[in-house]
Amino acid sequence: MVFDFVVVGAGSAGCAIADQLSADGRFNVAVVEAGGSDRRLAVKVPIGYAFTFNNPAVNWKYWTEPDPGLGNRRSYWPRGKVVGGSSSINAMLYCRGLSQDFDDWATAGATGWDWESVRPVFEAMESKCRRGTVTEPSGPLVITDPRASCHPINAAFLRAATEARWPVTDDYNHEGQEEGLCYFHSTTRNGWRWSSADAFLRPALGRGNVTLMRDRLVSHLCLDGREVTGVVFADGSVLRARRETILCAGAVGSPVLLQRSGIGPGEVLQQRGVETKVALPAVGRHMQDHLGITYFYGATVPTLNSDLYPFCGRVKAGLQYLLKRDGPLSLPVNQCGGFMRSSAQREIPDMQLYCNPVSYSSGGGGEFRASIDREPGFILGFCPCRPTSRGTVELASPDADAAPLIQPNSLSTDKDLEDVRRGGALLRQLTATPTMREITKGAKSVCPDTLDDEGLVADFRARAGTNFHPSCTCRMGRDESDSVLDARLRVHGVSGLRVADASSFPSITSANTNAPAMMLGRRAGSLVCEDHA
Ligand SMILES: Cc1cc2nc3c(=O)[nH]c(=O)nc-3n(C[C@H](O)[C@H](O)[C@H](O)COP(=O)(O)OP(=O)(O)OC[C@H]3O[C@@H](n4cnc5c(N)ncnc54)[C@H](O)[C@@H]3O)c2cc1C
Repeated sequence: MVFDFVVVGAGSAGCAIADQLSADGRFNVAVVEAGGSDRRLAVKVPIGYAFTFNNPAVNWKYWTEPDPGLGNRRSYWPRGKVVGGSSSINAMLYCRGLSQDFDDWATAGATGWDWESVRPVFEAMESKCRRGTVTEPSGPLVITDPRASCHPINAAFLRAATEARWPVTDDYNHEGQEEGLCYFHSTTRNGWRWSSADAFLRPALGRGNVTLMRDRLVSHLCLDGREVTGVVFADGSVLRARRETILCAGAVGSPVLLQRSGIGPGEVLQQRGVETKVALPAVGRHMQDHLGITYFYGATVPTLNSDLYPFCGRVKAGLQYLLKRDGPLSLPVNQCGGFMRSSAQREIPDMQLYCNPVSYSSGGGGEFRASIDREPGFILGFCPCRPTSRGTVELASPDADAAPLIQPNSLSTDKDLEDVRRGGALLRQLTATPTMREITKGAKSVCPDTLDDEGLVADFRARAGTNFHPSCTCRMGRDESDSVLDARLRVHGVSGLRVADASSFPSITSANTNAPAMMLGRRAGSLVCEDHA
């Protein structure tokens, strides 16, 4: 089997790149995906998030190594193993990131990835939608502003923000309006999840020059000297690429595939029984991720608990969804939040806040198995935007089925610890407002109001978890001493090979990583087409 391009991973970036390559019209493309079909109710219905979170049929279900910064806890790391990748199981919050994030990429050596260069890519891929009507049509990725269907308690969160003299913003994805609380936009369309597969892969498959191979686990790359000529599947069969192989296996999958192929840090490969073919020390290093924490509160007013706890409420919500594609089942649970500066001295927002109209009890054990609380309640949380701790992803063994070793090294810098204190202080400002006092009926967990700064840090170490944004494990940069890719996503010292996914980010963006991963895939597609003109 020979194709012009072999794309490994039908995730956020992989689907976007396949679309660009197919739209060019000159090439045939194979997209190889370890997971299966995304035609599942739990993938398509937004509330299905709770069911895909632990489901091995669509999820790699990784666990980290004991993380010293988190009291040696192992953390559960879901990643999408299904067509659409993590965009088929994520929480659907759509955020481009801050313009400064991309200017920082360019400064780090990713020439051509500055904000002015990537903004048109975002603009061309998005179409904005309200109440089921596309208001700003442009590209295939539908972004819904769900405010009309959001739970009324979200309006109270926004009122509280105004009382705290915080900005309230209409569209945090609009340049100049990033700061403030807001309704979060989502990758949904008419009450359905709108994944990268929906936006990009299905149109590409319709053109007839893209072949999707599902349930095919890639083991490693075919290397002829320093040239990649295709991939080897776990069953030993081979798929050849006439022009290039493009890894889009995600921030965990891509570095492990490189390492299993003998491309990576020599000492790690040697320890794990893999012959070093191309020594590239940065493969699997420099990993960044967002850590977040949630605090649970009782409410004096109805919240989503009041709709979804009673059996009759669930029946009503089900009917509302079936008949009108509206109501709580049609929405992601992150409905309100935003980006704030944790002090006036910060030049750009450095904290993402979440205000969720629901509270739940978790079954514990790391894997989130929530049951909604009977009494009304809500959640407040924060997540520092630009952590400086760096982790690693390493292969555990040459075996294609072996789970990788993930060490996040969370909270390993003073700056990250200071961010935790600042995040707690911000939430204290919000909970002190008249509106929050009025709607709060006591805290159901420890909360910033009852913790001093060191208590905040101790609680964060004990309870904080990933916001599911690992990135930078094959980052773009200037040279092979501390990066894996050049600014055109080509692997240093290897021909016929690129990596294009969240692993390619030079540094983590300030917010949720699905949008930048899709943007990167789309722009990667254009770069590849240019290079094969
Ligand atoms: C539970 C969860 C919630 C999230 N919530 C949000 C959110 O609300 N908003 C947001 O912006 N971001 C969110 N994210 C993060 C975001 O979805 C990811 O950053 C983004 O999807 C990453 O895209 P990617 O292309 O790098 O990787 P992925 O989309 O993960 O794609 C990688 C693909 O490669 C495949 N693959 C891996 N290894 C192999 C192999 N060896 N052979 C064949 N195929 C392989 C995988 O199965 C997968 O389909 C969330 C992520 C998760 C897991």
